[in-house]
Amino acid sequence: MHDITALLGDLEGIPYSTNLSQVRAKSRDMTLSFSPILKQDLQGKSAEVVVTPRSQAEVIRVVAACARHRIPLLPRGAGTGNFGQAIPLFGGVILDMTALKRVLWVKGRRVRAEAGAILESLDTAAKAAGGELRIHPSTLRTATVGGFVGGGHAGIGAVTYGILRDPGNILGLKVLSVEEEPQIHEIRGRQVNWVHHAYGTNGIILEVELPLAPAQEWLEVILCFEDFMDGARFAVALGQADGIAKKVISLCEWPVPSYFKPLAAYILAHRTTVLTLVAAENEEALRWLAEDHRGQITYCKAAGLGEFGPLYEYTWGHTGLYAIKAGIALSYALGLFPPHDLIGSIERVWRRFQSLGPLCLEMKRMDGRGVMAQGSPIFNFVSNEHMIQVIRDMEAEGVHVRNSHTYLIEESGFKTVDPEEQAFKQRMDPYNLLNPGKLSTASPKDSASKAGLELEVTGWKA
Ligand code: FAD
Repeated sequence: MHDITALLGDLEGIPYSTNLSQVRAKSRDMTLSFSPILKQDLQGKSAEVVVTPRSQAEVIRVVAACARHRIPLLPRGAGTGNFGQAIPLFGGVILDMTALKRVLWVKGRRVRAEAGAILESLDTAAKAAGGELRIHPSTLRTATVGGFVGGGHAGIGAVTYGILRDPGNILGLKVLSVEEEPQIHEIRGRQVNWVHHAYGTNGIILEVELPLAPAQEWLEVILCFEDFMDGARFAVALGQADGIAKKVISLCEWPVPSYFKPLAAYILAHRTTVLTLVAAENEEALRWLAEDHRGQITYCKAAGLGEFGPLYEYTWGHTGLYAIKAGIALSYALGLFPPHDLIGSIERVWRRFQSLGPLCLEMKRMDGRGVMAQGSPIFNFVSNEHMIQVIRDMEAEGVHVRNSHTYLIEESGFKTVDPEEQAFKQRMDPYNLLNPGKLSTASPKDSASKAGLELEVTGWKA
C-alpha cells in the first residue's frame, strides 16, 4: 500500500489513528445500509490511517505531506453520506474534518462556518440572529456542512428554495488544493457547483458560506388519507400553493407510516400519510386544502412540541432508515417525477408498482422548473437485474431516474463534469490523490471491483 510511516513522520503533533477498527469505521458511510448493490462492491474497502487536524493550518500540513508522499486522501465529515461517496477505494488517508467546527459569523442573511461544523450549529446561530437555514438534509443534527456541499443535494426547504445546485443556494466556498504547497481558493458564483456534489474529488472544503431565510414559526402537521392518490393530489396542491409557506411535504404509502414507531399515536392504520411543516399563519389554508382532498389532520402543533423529536426526521433519507429498522432489505430507485406531468407520472408509477412496494415521495423544486417529486417504491432487494428492470419501468412511465447504486459521480446521473470542471480538478488535484476512482474522467477505475450498477440512466443532470 503506501508509506504511511513516512507520512506520519511529517505530521508531528497532529492527532491520527491507525487502529484497525477505528480506521475501518471511518472508512464507511451509510452506503452499505442504503445500497445492497454497492455493498457487494465496497464491503471491506478501508483507508490506512485516519488523521484529524484541529485547525486549517494543520489541514494544510496534512495535505502538503500527502502530496509529497503521493498518498491518496478522502475528506470526511460525519459519514452520513451514501452512494459510496466517503468510502476509499485505494487505501490512504481519511482526512477527518469534524474538528474544524467553528461557526465563523452570521451577517444579515448569510452564515459562514468551517466545513466540519454540524449543520444544526449553523441553524442555531442563524436563529439567534432572526434567520434559519434555507435547505438542510434530514440529518441536520448529525451531518456537517462540508459533507452536505460535498455529497448532499436537497432536503427540508427544497420545496421552496430548490436544491443546493440551484443558483443562490451556495454563496461561497474556501477550498484547498492538494499539492506540495497547497493553495487556498475562494470559490463563488457558478464555480461553487464544480465542488458541490463532487465527493471531495476536486478540493478540500475548509469553509462554507450559505444564504439564510427569515426565521419562521412552523407548524408540524401529520395528515392521513384513505386513498393514496388523494394524498398525492394534496401533496402536489400544497407544493403548488404559492400563498402557503412550507418547508417539507413528505408523502408515504402504507405500510411505511407504520415504520415510524414514535409517530404511532398519529398514524391511522392502512392510511397514506403526508408529513409537512407549514407556517403557523397558514393553518387555516392548510385545513382548507386538507378538506378539499379528504385528508384527516391527526397532529398539528408548533414545531418542537412533539414527543417524537423533529418531524423532518421522518422525511427524505430518514424514510429509508425507518424502513431498514423495520427489517426491509431496502432498495429503491431515485426517481424524479416531472413538473409538467406530476400527478400523471405519480399515478402511473403507483399503479404499476402496486405489487412491488409502497411509494414514498418528497415534493421539491429544482432547476427552476416548478414543483416536482422525488422518490421511489420501497422494496426488498432482489438482484441487480431486477433493479435495472425497476429503473427501466419507472423511466417508461416518464420518470427520470438517478443511478443511486454507483459510486461514479457522472454515471450517477446527477451532474456532468464538463471540460472547465475537469481543468479545475487538474489544477486542484494534479496528482489525482483526492478520493481517487470516483471521477471516471480523471482517475483510474478501481479494476479490483465493479462500480456498482453500471447502467446508462436518464439522470437528473441540470
Ligand atoms: P460525509 O458522508 O462525511 O461526506 C459526504 C461527501 O462529502 C463525501 O464524498 C466526502 O468526501 C465529501 N466531503 C465531506 N467533507 C468534505 C470537505 N470538507 N471537503 C470536501 N469534501 C468533503 N442528503 C441530502 O442531501 N438530503 C437529505 O435529506 C438527506 N437525508 C438523509 C437521511 C439519512 C438517514 C441519511 C443516512 C443520509 C441522508 N442524506 C441526505 C445524506 C447525507 O446525510 C447528507 O448528504 C449529509 O449532508 C452528508 O454530510 P456528512 O458530514 O455526513 O458527509
